[in-house]
Amino acid sequence: MTERRDTAQQRAIREVCQSTSRPLSIDEILRLAQSDVPSLGQRTVYRIVRRMVEDGLLVPVAVSGQPDRYELAEIAASHHHHFHCTVCDRMFDVDGCVGKLASLLPRGFTLEDHELTLRGRCKSCSD
Ligand SMILES: [Zn+2]
Ligand SMILES: [Zn+2]
Repeated sequence: MTERRDTAQQRAIREVCQSTSRPLSIDEILRLAQSDVPSLGQRTVYRIVRRMVEDGLLVPVAVSGQPDRYELAEIAASHHHHFHCTVCDRMFDVDGCVGKLASLLPRGFTLEDHELTLRGRCKSCSD
């Protein structure tokens, strides 16, 4: 496996993440990137995604009881939350944030960060 081929594959994966603009599973990345790089296999996607995480280009998004999804670090850098569709299993970005979370804390506690995943049915699964 040459560096140059890796780069083309990494570029395909990066473009998929950019154009989809929602957190993707390895299988989703594989399926979408295969239209650019038909020879792409699941193990290659795993390896490249893992390296892109190490290089700080992708950030894992945890889904309880499931393998991580991945989003671009530049998207992860701006505070946002996710919606997980319980029917099609896709994750979406959600704009905005709930306020006043610090008011839930016991007295004397300090809030530093929070994660929030909304669950339900996306638009196409609600119709
Ligand atoms: Zn759905
Ligand atoms: Zn928030």
